Amino acid sequence: MGRSVLITGGNRGIGLSIAHEFAAAGDRVAVTYRSGEPPEGLFGVRCDVTKAADVERAFAEVEAEHGPVEVVVANAGITRDKLLLRMDEDDFGAVLETNLGGVFRVVKRACRGMLRARSGRIVLISSVVGMSGEAGQCNYAAAKAGLVGFGRSLARELGSRGITVNIVAPGIVATDMTAVLSKERRDEICGHVPLRRMAEPGEIAPVVRFVASPEAAYITGAVIPVDGGLGMGH
Ligand code: NDP
Repeated sequence: MGRSVLITGGNRGIGLSIAHEFAAAGDRVAVTYRSGEPPEGLFGVRCDVTKAADVERAFAEVEAEHGPVEVVVANAGITRDKLLLRMDEDDFGAVLETNLGGVFRVVKRACRGMLRARSGRIVLISSVVGMSGEAGQCNYAAAKAGLVGFGRSLARELGSRGITVNIVAPGIVATDMTAVLSKERRDEICGHVPLRRMAEPGEIAPVVRFVASPEAAYITGAVIPVDGGLGMGH
């Protein structure tokens, strides 16, 4: 009957693709959505990861429906791209609060059940930019790099309890997040990608499922690039 899997930001983009990937493998999948409607055919809980009370309620709803969360994928994220001198406190704070603070809240809550079960899989969705940096993305890159330190520290804390923590770092992926970039900018980025194209969300999802699988029991604290070679060397 599969495992109880929770994916944040699972109503669209990479998160939705990850949700379908786990569901196709037979897991009991729940997704969080912040706005709009939950996706067809998946159990959805409304949750803004910047709000601790939302996170607590979302977990309670998922546990009631599917049992304790055995796999959590911290995927929800935003961008507010601006050069530093134009970036205000809110641009910086909002990205850090969502992309790093949100992960802290979600993962901390997920750990409760995993520690009791003495097993679990935690996957954090970072970005190539966390390692390479990108002009106009100081806030985003800081948060995504922060996930590496956060995840690796946690891997050390939780390893003796049978819980793995891994970081998947996509390159440029065709979703709403990158649709806001001009075609010229997307082409420019793809020019630096050895595979010369963007990824589809369905090319990230199987990697996430693998690191959360029983076969990946001996992988923890790893940063796994899925970036067409963009970040080679990191
Ligand atoms: P999208 O913009 O398509 O989707 C973002 C998702 O995050 C949505 O479900 C959104 O919910 C959710 N979300 C945003 N803020 C919050 C919040 N405060 N609380 C709860 N949910 C929230 O992005 P992608 O699918 O492209 O990105 C998914 C992840 O992958 C992100 O962490 C992103 O940084 C990362 N990534 C993306 C890359 C890309 O090129 N696309 C490359 C590398 C990493 P709602 O629909 O309600 O807004």
